[in-house]
Amino acid sequence: ITGGGKKKEVKKETGLGLSFKKDENFGEWYSEVVVNGEMIEYYDISGCYIIRPWAMSIWEIMQSFFDAEIKKMKIKNCYFPLFVSPAVLEKEKDHIEGFAPEVAWVTKSGQSDLEVPIAIRPTSETVMYPYYSKWIRGHRDLPLKLNQWCNVVRWEFSNPTPFIRSREFLWQEGHTAFATKTEADTEVLEILELYRRIYEEFMAVPVIKGKKSELEKFAGGLYTTTVEAFVPNTGRGIQGATSHCLGQNFSNMFDITFENEKGEKAKAWQNSWAYTTRTIGVMVMVHGDDKGLVLPPKVASVQVIVIPVPYKDADTQGIFDACDATVESLSEAGIRAEADFRDNYSPGWKYSHWEMKGVPLRIEIGPKDLANNQVRAVRRDSGAKIDLPRASLVEQVKEILDKIQESLFEAAKQRRDACIQTVETWDEFVEALGQRKMILAPWCDEVEVEKDVKARTKGEMGAAKSLCSPMEQPEIPEDFPFIDGAREREMVTKTEETQLN
Ligand code: AMP
Repeated sequence: ITGGGKKKEVKKETGLGLSFKKDENFGEWYSEVVVNGEMIEYYDISGCYIIRPWAMSIWEIMQSFFDAEIKKMKIKNCYFPLFVSPAVLEKEKDHIEGFAPEVAWVTKSGQSDLEVPIAIRPTSETVMYPYYSKWIRGHRDLPLKLNQWCNVVRWEFSNPTPFIRSREFLWQEGHTAFATKTEADTEVLEILELYRRIYEEFMAVPVIKGKKSELEKFAGGLYTTTVEAFVPNTGRGIQGATSHCLGQNFSNMFDITFENEKGEKAKAWQNSWAYTTRTIGVMVMVHGDDKGLVLPPKVASVQVIVIPVPYKDADTQGIFDACDATVESLSEAGIRAEADFRDNYSPGWKYSHWEMKGVPLRIEIGPKDLANNQVRAVRRDSGAKIDLPRASLVEQVKEILDKIQESLFEAAKQRRDACIQTVETWDEFVEALGQRKMILAPWCDEVEVEKDVKARTKGEMGAAKSLCSPMEQPEIPEDFPFIDGAREREMVTKTEETQLN
């Protein structure tokens, strides 16, 4: 826009749209929508982002849900320091090998070099477990179940992307220790189910529960379970959240032992599990459209935006009062509603503004609505317009919000399912990979085989990477010619760079 002094005013009225289309320039569309939707501001350190209140409120809603659920499981919150000494960090060999390239180090204080550099936690197994060793003595000290809400730093080098892959991110990390493997196994799945609910019930994003391959499991753990999301626009699988059984590897290294009921020394069984602000990015990628964000009602901090539509000398005060009364009755019923009374923006501008921010339902009140004792409701997801009598407003709005939540999930599931391709032969596998499908293929889970598949698929279309062995396995015909015990089916996605760990 050119034109000197009027620039700001013009931008106010017209500068709301997105310049990129989701289906044409997905990457640019995403960067633009998270900024214009007021979720993120870019920061002057690459891979770091400012989380603005619009996104933070989503994080807080999920946090309240998850925190209440883990408290029911008798998991308690705590806080451990941000810094780790190299000696402790390096104690578990496989673990540090997995994280070493991404660890950020503090090497100076002011002008002077530190005698020993200090690492910033990429995750807190090694921060916490020396103290688990101290606190766990006898079987009565078990289980020990702690969680912390905090930030971690992983100095990622490939494509930083707001929420999805950032160098500092917010998460919860749970760390639990049990006397028996059975208890640990049970908890791994209970937590995984909570992660599924976060994605499916709150974010309205379908996920696949499964187990990571040996190659892809958590460094130093026994096995990793995961919820995998999928973004049809890119053909990318995204690791949604992970619940790990660490086995006894860390209790060996950190000497987390206890005296069992028979008076013998035993090693604790441990789990760790985490979900991060990545969840928000996945939701934006799955539901957003060319008008901006589309927020599922369950996570929207404003579920209903009420906009007065005054007309010439009609009863403006009456319209404003009706807006106030609408917000009040919705709020009383526990619906998160606000009115936009700003007088320096036109109703049309406000429509676009709140569409950009993804508010699930807009209510417009003009002179005609006032006269008919009704309001006009407009759904963000479908654009459908419905006139609602004011007498039954609250019940109907509740119903519409539930419907929006449901239909966002159903639509996302349909799009995701259309991208799943089941294959039986190598040729079919290569073909589906080229079509950016998420592939369901027979799988033996051997590290060497997975490396070989990667090597063989390297090239223009990128290397294949396994996502998980789904917990729900398809029916396999009795006479299927399995090779080398490949009894399980594995989800596989496209390129190495594009699959997000
Ligand atoms: P991990 O401790 O490696 O299992 O990571 C826990 C979860 O964090 C993963 O399942 C991802 O969903 C998420 N995650 C990993 N790296 C990042 C990152 N750089 N930014 C945001 N989320 C991440």
